[in-house]
Amino acid sequence: MGEPKGVAEGVPIAVRPDPHPDDGRRPVAWLHIVAPPSWGVTPSARSWCTCGYERHAIGRAAVLQLVAAHGEHRTTCPLLIPKPEGRTAA
Ligand SMILES: [Zn+2]
Repeated sequence: MGEPKGVAEGVPIAVRPDPHPDDGRRPVAWLHIVAPPSWGVTPSARSWCTCGYERHAIGRAAVLQLVAAHGEHRTTCPLLIPKPEGRTAA
């Protein structure tokens, strides 16, 4: 007994109808890593941001540092921090 169920509802793809989001939650920084499973190929990565921040890394150690720097940049990027001056006191 049991009714056959179809595919689950919901599409795991986020579609943006508006190419110009002005809610301030647009992605600013990107991180792209190319790490082939082969040991003979050196992994590389690129991290860039709309504020002009851009970094390239070649090699495992350099890629790991780039990832760390990318995460750090997201806390110091002037675009992600709209108000560098004037603290908002709670
Ligand atoms: Zn930035």
